[in-house]
Amino acid sequence: MDVSFDKAEAFGLLEASPDLLRWLEALCAVSTDGLLALDETGRILFANARAEQLLGLPRQALLRRDIRELAMVLHGASPEEPHPLLRSLDTGRTVPPTGLTLLHPDGARRCIQLQSIPLSGDHGRTLGAAISLREGGEEGCASPLRQAEAHAAELDATISAIADGVVIYNTAMEIIRLNTAAESLLELTPDARKLPFHDRIIRSRMRSADGHPLTPDELPSLRALRGETLCGEIASITHTDGRELWLAISAAPIHDPQGVITGVVSTFTDITVMRELQQRQDDLLHIVSHDLFIPLTVIHGHMQLIKETLRRAGIEESLADSLDAIARAEQRMHAMARDLVDTAGLEGGQLRLELQPVKLAPYVGNMLRRLRGALDTRRVTVEIPEALPPVSADTNRLERILVNLLSNALKYSPEGSTVGIQASAAECGVDISVVDRGRGIGAEDLPLIFERFYRAQSERKAEGIGLGLYITKGLVEAHGGRIHVVSAPGQGSTFTFSMPKAVT
Ligand code: ADP
Repeated sequence: MDVSFDKAEAFGLLEASPDLLRWLEALCAVSTDGLLALDETGRILFANARAEQLLGLPRQALLRRDIRELAMVLHGASPEEPHPLLRSLDTGRTVPPTGLTLLHPDGARRCIQLQSIPLSGDHGRTLGAAISLREGGEEGCASPLRQAEAHAAELDATISAIADGVVIYNTAMEIIRLNTAAESLLELTPDARKLPFHDRIIRSRMRSADGHPLTPDELPSLRALRGETLCGEIASITHTDGRELWLAISAAPIHDPQGVITGVVSTFTDITVMRELQQRQDDLLHIVSHDLFIPLTVIHGHMQLIKETLRRAGIEESLADSLDAIARAEQRMHAMARDLVDTAGLEGGQLRLELQPVKLAPYVGNMLRRLRGALDTRRVTVEIPEALPPVSADTNRLERILVNLLSNALKYSPEGSTVGIQASAAECGVDISVVDRGRGIGAEDLPLIFERFYRAQSERKAEGIGLGLYITKGLVEAHGGRIHVVSAPGQGSTFTFSMPKAVT
């Protein structure tokens, strides 16, 4: 029978009663629990096969072994707190089902549920103890405290592996956890961490993207505490050595199962290098685009001079085609340089609008007359009711918007087809549409055409650098309007933008 039993050492009683011994052997063998019997000194007198299995030790390693020694081997015995394996023996009391983690000699951890009772003989003499062992699930064996510790350790390991700064606050905005990236990014030394929240903020000198000091109401973590979830808010902080750092901050509230906010988690991504690169790119764009205008102005001036000289000499006719080609090339380069300047201006926040009330019908009429040489205005039809309310617009910028949309409409539609400008009253102003019957835009390109430098796959060979619609959208939005497009391949395109009503 599969029971380890040290007959020679103990249980004279059992020796005297072989039948009882057989019963005991049978009971131990049939039990699905691990069973151990200890003598009064704590030595193991017998163990069934399940006990060997659960303790990860063969019977030779168990029998006659002191249970204290075994407790040390299996981890966790401490002088202050008797190990549950010893408690019945040491205290003479029953140990109710108790979860404990055993560290097997092969390094594996096993969760065990242990129960033990002391065995008393005549006159209260301690005979030993009986222990039953049962395999327990991870949850069953770990105490709530241990479970919490295990979760905390997992959380620490997870956040320390994140390259961005991560800080977890409680509802009093005390720091509950943070990783090393947050420590260095936010200069949260152990002393700084103990400071009240507002002192920590003042110390970090946090500013918004436009440079104003963030008020408590604007702080992402406090907004998250009020229930908001924020993603990639741009802010700067100044380190104690004077270094300015740019951060993209995200923050979200932490809810308990009942939905109550119990804290906030914030992440901080260092975007200082990215911002510097962007800044350098913008500066370069600005310089290059401005410098392009100088040679273009020279070309333009001398072209006029040559034209005039040729006219006087009576030979302008014979060179008309060449002169036109040079003029068109110069105009195209001029438009591209202007797109680059406008892009830099829009992105650098340097766009200043000079708003005034504009009556659309006469404004568009004048504009088309002026542009007769530059655009094929004969193809353009206008439907703008005279009675429309005036819009509030910067006339130069409104012309850029219309010219960009018109030149695209003319460029991307067949020679003979017409392009319409229509306007109608809308809720807060006027909707203006530029409609063509051209090739249209594919569904895969449609969401991207307002991106900077984006050009549809099929148009890569046509003239342009993919900035027109990006600038157009920026200018419309700077006026407080919106732009959208309805288009399908072969169906033509309708670009519609809104302009606010002028306050009269
Ligand atoms: P560009 O015209 O310089 O390429 P835009 O920003 O003005 O740049 O336009 C981006 C892309 O959108 C164009 O390359 C073209 O593919 C598409 N597009 C714009 N307007 C139209 C239109 N009216 N019809 C068809 N495609 C258009």
